[in-house]
Amino acid sequence: MDYIVLDLEWNQCPCGKKKEDPKLPFEIIEIGAVKLDSAFREIGTFHETIRPVLYRKLHYMTRSVIHMTEEDFEGKRTFPHVFADFLIWCGDSPVFCTWGPGDLTELQRNVRWHISHGSLTGRWPFPFPFFYRDIQKVFSYVYEDGKNRRSLEWAVEYLKIEKTEEFHDAFSDACYTSKIMQLLPPDDVRRYSSIDTYRTPLRRSEEILVRYDRYFKFISKTFQNRDDIMKDRVVTSTRCLSCGKKIRRNIRWFSDNGRNYLCIAQCPDHGLFRGKIRIRQNADDQWYVVKTIRYACEEDVDAVRKKQETLRHRRRMHRMS
Ligand SMILES: [Zn+2]
Repeated sequence: MDYIVLDLEWNQCPCGKKKEDPKLPFEIIEIGAVKLDSAFREIGTFHETIRPVLYRKLHYMTRSVIHMTEEDFEGKRTFPHVFADFLIWCGDSPVFCTWGPGDLTELQRNVRWHISHGSLTGRWPFPFPFFYRDIQKVFSYVYEDGKNRRSLEWAVEYLKIEKTEEFHDAFSDACYTSKIMQLLPPDDVRRYSSIDTYRTPLRRSEEILVRYDRYFKFISKTFQNRDDIMKDRVVTSTRCLSCGKKIRRNIRWFSDNGRNYLCIAQCPDHGLFRGKIRIRQNADDQWYVVKTIRYACEEDVDAVRKKQETLRHRRRMHRMS
């Protein structure tokens, strides 16, 4: 099993958001990738500049960030050709690794756009569920609190990796990401997998439930109607991470801002758990939820209770005024 450390550069509509194609706000103009074997040894590279077909002029931001001009694309191949070769180069069942979740979203959006325009054929080239490694997240888990997100350059400096190439070039950014990956504990890279949510489960049977060391992650089917989400028994159910049994909630689901819900549940044998539901929209503006259930301590319970009380107080004040 090989790891494909990927980085992309993209262009956006040079005439501003109003004139862009909402199905393709970011058109890929460069793919850079490094292939690592299962022991994270480098075994290959891929690098190609891509001639844009939708936004043929560069947006001023693109121009200033990536140091390219329109002449750099003359004679270059378009996305469908480059992507077809890239897929072959990736090999069977590659594990994609990126710095943050954005590159895989834009890659899939570009693939979908070309499929819908007939310029790319064949079946959808990505697995479902789509597991990948977000190296930015793994870096945060290993060196920080797991929540903070650092820039690639910050991590390179932190790990004292020699800065030989410019940043914001797809290939050099992929190289830097692969070097960071080689310095992270291999077991952590393998353990902290991420799930891409560009394509979300369409029906109940496709719903995703993954058990990590400290928490469950659940990705629900899509809902047409937002109001149905918190009435759904599967969405609101809570299970013990140790025995898997359904457990009772001693603080029921409540919302802090309409998008996130919290709860506390308890297993008589294995203690306290904190549930969190985040309501999100997928690429087709359909609703779905990401639910996590993790082990909790008394302080977590206090924090959740305090949050609930503050919200209640605020609502009461609001009603009175
Ligand atoms: Zn239990």
